[in-house]
Amino acid sequence: MPRHIEALVHVSALAHNLQRARAQAPDARVWAVVKANAYGHGIERAYDGLRGADGFALLDLAEAERLRTLGWRGPILLLEGVFEPRDLELCSRLDLWHAVHCDEQIDWLAAHKTHRPHRVFLKLNSGMNRLGFTPAAFRGAWARLGALPQVDEISAITHFSDADGPRGIAHQIAAFETATQDLPGERCLSNSAALLRHGVKNDWVRAGILLYGSAPDFPEHDIAHWDLQPTMTLRSRIIATQTLAAGDTVGYGSSFTAPGPMRVGIVACGYADGYPRLCPTGTPALVDGRRTRTIGRVSMDMLEVDLTELPDAGIGSEVTLWGRGPGGSVLPIDEVARTAGTIGYELMCAVAPRVTMRVAED
Ligand SMILES: *Cc1c(COP(=O)(O)O)cnc(C)c1O
Repeated sequence: MPRHIEALVHVSALAHNLQRARAQAPDARVWAVVKANAYGHGIERAYDGLRGADGFALLDLAEAERLRTLGWRGPILLLEGVFEPRDLELCSRLDLWHAVHCDEQIDWLAAHKTHRPHRVFLKLNSGMNRLGFTPAAFRGAWARLGALPQVDEISAITHFSDADGPRGIAHQIAAFETATQDLPGERCLSNSAALLRHGVKNDWVRAGILLYGSAPDFPEHDIAHWDLQPTMTLRSRIIATQTLAAGDTVGYGSSFTAPGPMRVGIVACGYADGYPRLCPTGTPALVDGRRTRTIGRVSMDMLEVDLTELPDAGIGSEVTLWGRGPGGSVLPIDEVARTAGTIGYELMCAVAPRVTMRVAED
């Protein structure tokens, strides 16, 4: 029998979260951001929950191809545009829309032979300083693109650095409005945090992490606050128990010492499954749907949980590392990420290949 660990993808929760994005921006069209293999969920597994979106946004051409193979005929946007000139052939063939963030991408388009002009999203660097034309260069790039027979419609796009935090987005919105003033075409600004916290709607919004049941501004707000549902469950079982006396230690480095008599459960889940080794003693976990904590260091294939208050738990008990547990219990991925000093995004993207992932039956 294989190890007990598995990951479940909740399709109905994806659909619910997509509806939440729609409710925040009823007049906008919604890009479902499915980069990084749908934030680790698997594009094919997530597709049924997200096919109600107006389009799919991603980075990888192979992922765009997979969406077309699934039968998606609607818009697909390459958020970083093409990486080399021949990628434009695939854009023509698969009808992919693409971001244009640098002069080289315009040069490649100018040299591209196509019967079908491309829809492009011209990227403004409004302050993130990652991709995009500076406000000073934006209009020149727009004019160059506009003169190309290879280009059909031009939309304007930018990305916020601080939509989830105290700095906010006003300075970037101001830069965007100045740079795009009087230019025709659709606008696309919001990520999840901008949509939830600032209500930035425009013509298109880009919903990423909110679709996957993680709050972009945790711990200020949690998924219950935003009415989002967990879309991924990582679960396993207890494979052994130990009874400790005061002074006994648990795991590598003896990082945990029992203050008194305790019972611990050994869980078939470790960092080689994608569970962060950085999660310290006290990281929440559910055993048979009841909340407890990890103790000691996470090892490659195992971790330990405190069963002292859970006398009925033992070998075979179900352990929810994050997501949905039995009896309607929930452990948001954000709580686990936080104890490891990271964000839900990283955990869901990092579930290891050795963990079987499948669509949940409910
Ligand atoms: C990843 C990404 C998004 C989605 O961001 P979330 O915080 O997950 O909503 C939106 N736009 C761009 C350009 C991105 O790279």
